[in-house]
Amino acid sequence: MEQFKRFLMKQDIPRRVRVCYQCGVCAGGCPVGKWRWDFNPRRFIEMILRDEIDDIIKDDKIWLCAACHTCLERCPQTIEVSEIMMQLKNAAARIGSIPENQVKMGREIMKTGWTQTPGKRTLRIRRELGLPEIPRGIRSRELRSLMDCLGLPEQLKRPENKDNNGPDSSAVNPTNEKKEKNTE
Ligand code: SF4
Repeated sequence: MEQFKRFLMKQDIPRRVRVCYQCGVCAGGCPVGKWRWDFNPRRFIEMILRDEIDDIIKDDKIWLCAACHTCLERCPQTIEVSEIMMQLKNAAARIGSIPENQVKMGREIMKTGWTQTPGKRTLRIRRELGLPEIPRGIRSRELRSLMDCLGLPEQLKRPENKDNNGPDSSAVNPTNEKKEKNTE
């Protein structure tokens, strides 16, 4: 947890959000929030302002941010909300707190270069349409060295992801949507 906190301090995040006056414009325009009413970027900024770092790390909803940057475009205080969300994810990943579905996606990228391997149906449709076969495996050395630089292989090796206060991947599954009302 201290490591998480140190990372946030290093990125100067508490200072960058201090001008937030909690207007909620970021949450109001968030496309993920329209799909998951319990995802609220304003709330994450509030948690940083309140120094509720422990709660942020436990809240796997940070992984729902699609980095569309709508919040960043709309914020009247020019707070880079989506950039901060990205840094929260980076900080969580550094301490091995990554939801299981994200780990799977990362492993798939390591193996194939894609986030998801095309299924049999996709492959059949491609054949029927006369499209060329999709190449297997990562061919680009650059892509692999980029992933090495990012430390992705190391992050995905950690078996203790879930035990280390890591988030439960079920909470980033849309089928587990709660039915409370968003306050925005
Ligand atoms: Fe804070 Fe900007 Fe979001 Fe308003 S839009 S709540 S000022 S981060």
